[in-house]
Amino acid sequence: MIPDKPARGTSAIVVGGGPAGLTAAIALATGGIATVLVGKPPARADNRTTALLGGSVTALETLGVWPLCAAKAAPLKVMRIVDDTGRLWRAPEVKFSAREIDRDAFGYNIENRHLVAALMQRAHQLGHLRIVENEAGSVVPEADAVTVTLQSGETLTAALVIGADGRKSLCRTAAGIASDQREYPQLALTVCLTHSRPHRDASTEFHTPSGPFTLVPLPGQRSSLVWVLDPARADDISTLDDAALAAAIERASHSLLGKITVEPGRGLFPLGVATARAFAARRIALVGEAAHVIPPIGAQGLNLGLRDAASIGERAVAALGHGEDIGSDAVLADYDRMRRADVGSRSMAIDLMNRTLLTDFLPVQGLRGLGLYMIDRIGPLRRAVMREGVAPGAAQPRLMRGEAL
Ligand SMILES: Cc1cc2nc3c(=O)[nH]c(=O)nc-3n(C[C@H](O)[C@H](O)[C@H](O)COP(=O)(O)OP(=O)(O)OC[C@H]3O[C@@H](n4cnc5c(N)ncnc54)[C@H](O)[C@@H]3O)c2cc1C
Repeated sequence: MIPDKPARGTSAIVVGGGPAGLTAAIALATGGIATVLVGKPPARADNRTTALLGGSVTALETLGVWPLCAAKAAPLKVMRIVDDTGRLWRAPEVKFSAREIDRDAFGYNIENRHLVAALMQRAHQLGHLRIVENEAGSVVPEADAVTVTLQSGETLTAALVIGADGRKSLCRTAAGIASDQREYPQLALTVCLTHSRPHRDASTEFHTPSGPFTLVPLPGQRSSLVWVLDPARADDISTLDDAALAAAIERASHSLLGKITVEPGRGLFPLGVATARAFAARRIALVGEAAHVIPPIGAQGLNLGLRDAASIGERAVAALGHGEDIGSDAVLADYDRMRRADVGSRSMAIDLMNRTLLTDFLPVQGLRGLGLYMIDRIGPLRRAVMREGVAPGAAQPRLMRGEAL
C-alpha cells in the first residue's frame, strides 16, 4: 500500500498512461517506490501494433506483464527488407533469420490495445501504485519536490516525476528541456489485415520511394500494416473504401499474403523525428515519445521507450535502496547518461535510412544499396546487425536481462 505520507525523497509521479508511462510506473512500484500514475484511457483506439525487440519481452516478463498478453502476440522469426524503389541502384533483398543467431524469434508483435490492457491489469495489481484517471494541468519543479496539479484540482507532490506524456510533453516544458524536431513529408497509414496466405512468422518491409510499406505478423492469418506515404497519396489511399483499400494493399505487397481483407479501424500518423536535448532535469525524467520520436522503420520507437522506463526504474530503485533522494541531480544525470548512446545511435540510423529512401540523389541511393548489399553478403556483419537489434550493446538495463529491480 502507498503510505499516506511517503518519506521525503522517496515517491514518484508518472504523467501519461501510454505504454512507456505504464511500464515506468510498474517498474518503480515493483521496486518499492510509492508511485502515482496520472493518465486517462485514450479517447481514440490505438490500432497500431508493436514489434517487441531488444529485451522488451524479457522486461515485460520480469515485470509480470507478459503472461497477461503473450497469447495475443505473434513471433517474429524472419525479417525481410525488399527494395521496391524501382530505382537504377536497387539494394538486394536482405533476409534476417532468428535461427542464424540461435534464437527462436527476434521478438513478438502485439496490438497496442492488448499490450496496454495487460500493462493496466498489472498496474492495478500493485500495492505501491495508485492510478488516477485524470490529466496533469500543471507541473512545477522546486528544489526538493515537484508539484503536479490535476485537471480535477487535486494536487500531488513527489521527489521524482516521470514525463511519459508523449510528443507534446508538458513535463518536458516544465523541466525547461528543448527538443530538436523535424517533420517529414510523410504520413503513416496503419491498419490490421486478414489474409488468405500464411505469413510464416515473417515480417516484410518493402522500401518504396515514399517510405516503407511494412507487414508484420499477428496471430493466425492476420498481419498489421504500416504504410508510409506522401501527404497527397495518404489522403487518397486512407479514404478508399475497405474493398478498394484491400486491393491497393494487395498490389503494393505484390500479393505476398494472397487475398487481403481490411479489418475495421484505421490510423494516420504524421511522421517526424524529435530528440530532447536532455532526458532529465529539475526532478523530471522523460521517457518514451516525450524524450524521442522516430519514424516507424525497423520497429524501434517503443522498444527505446521501454528501455527508458527500465533504466529510470533501475536507477531510482537503486537510489531508494541506498537511502538517497530518488529525484536528485545525480540520479537524473545518471539516467541521462544511461540513455544517450542508445537513443542517439538509433535515431540517427533510422533518420538516415528514411532520408536515403526519400532522396533523388543517385550517389546516396548507391551508398544505401551498397550498405544493404554488404549486410546481405557478409555473414558476420549480418549477424552483428541482428544481435544489435535483439540485445543493444549500448544499453541493456537489468529488466531487459531478466533481473528484478
Ligand atoms: C505508425 C507507427 C507504428 C509504430 N510501430 C512501432 C513498432 O512496431 N515498434 C515500436 O517499438 N514502436 C513503434 N512505434 C512507436 C510507438 O508507437 C511509440 O513509441 C509509442 O506509442 C509511444 O508511447 P508513449 O507511451 O511514449 O506515448 P503515447 O502512447 O503517446 O502516450 C502518451 C500518453 O500521455 C497522455 N498525456 C499527454 N499529456 C498528458 C497530461 N498532461 N496528463 C496526463 N496524461 C497525458 C496521453 O493521453 C497518452 O495516453 C510506431 C509508431 C507509429 C507512428
